[in-house]
Amino acid sequence: MARRKKIYEGKAKTLYEGPEPGTIVQYFKDDATAFNAEKHATIEGKGVLNNMLSEYFMRGLTNLGIPNHFIRRLNMREQLVRACEIVPLEVIVRNYAAGSMAKRLGIEEGMQLPRPVVEYCLKDDKLGDPLVTEEHIAAFGWASQQDMDDILSLALRVNDFLSGVMYGVGIKLVDFKIEIGRVYDGDYQRLIVADEISPDSCRLWDMETGQKLDKDVFRRDLGSLTDAYTEVATRLGVMPKANVPPSKPTLIN
Ligand code: C5P
Repeated sequence: MARRKKIYEGKAKTLYEGPEPGTIVQYFKDDATAFNAEKHATIEGKGVLNNMLSEYFMRGLTNLGIPNHFIRRLNMREQLVRACEIVPLEVIVRNYAAGSMAKRLGIEEGMQLPRPVVEYCLKDDKLGDPLVTEEHIAAFGWASQQDMDDILSLALRVNDFLSGVMYGVGIKLVDFKIEIGRVYDGDYQRLIVADEISPDSCRLWDMETGQKLDKDVFRRDLGSLTDAYTEVATRLGVMPKANVPPSKPTLIN
């Protein structure tokens, strides 16, 4: 059997050359890392869950006309995506204070922000993905002003979609990170949502109990990460309710 060409191996995914030009196969690994890979573990089933969840979210974006890289899911761990040039920025949208912003600004975690706050970090593991301003982005040419307008609009549209979907299943979208890809259609370039959208890259809190259903479970040793991600997938109807005993019939009188 011919071996396919590996293009890139990241912390949670491996990318292979796709079957047609301009495509890439994205393989979701079971590896979990945190704190710039200082903490590492293999969590059985995480890759499958993130593959299914990312498919679900990207399909939702497509339905709303929000351009993204997803083409189709190939199997339990792989999806075919459009090849793109990744803009070297992590785009973070926050609805509630948490994580690094809460720490940096001394704000209590969980405070609802008066409006969504968008932040940019430079994608550079060696530097620990530092927060950058639009001044840095313009001065160093990481993205043009037109790109930044498009990125902001994409980020806010994704936020509206994701917040609504999660709200519908009783989950608060605290914050998330997306990556943006550049694709060329003839002489034109377009920006699309790339990488993945999954509980690895979002903060998701149960609306009633505040229970964390995202990668903070791993970062902060709060229990089983697969249970948390399975809960999200089950609520969204992405995974069948496995191992859940059938509820007892209700007796009337
Ligand atoms: O750590 P911080 O509070 O800045 O993270 C904000 C959001 O971005 C969280 O949902 C986190 O999971 C996500 N993130 C990510 N990858 C990174 C940094 C942050 O997915 N490298």
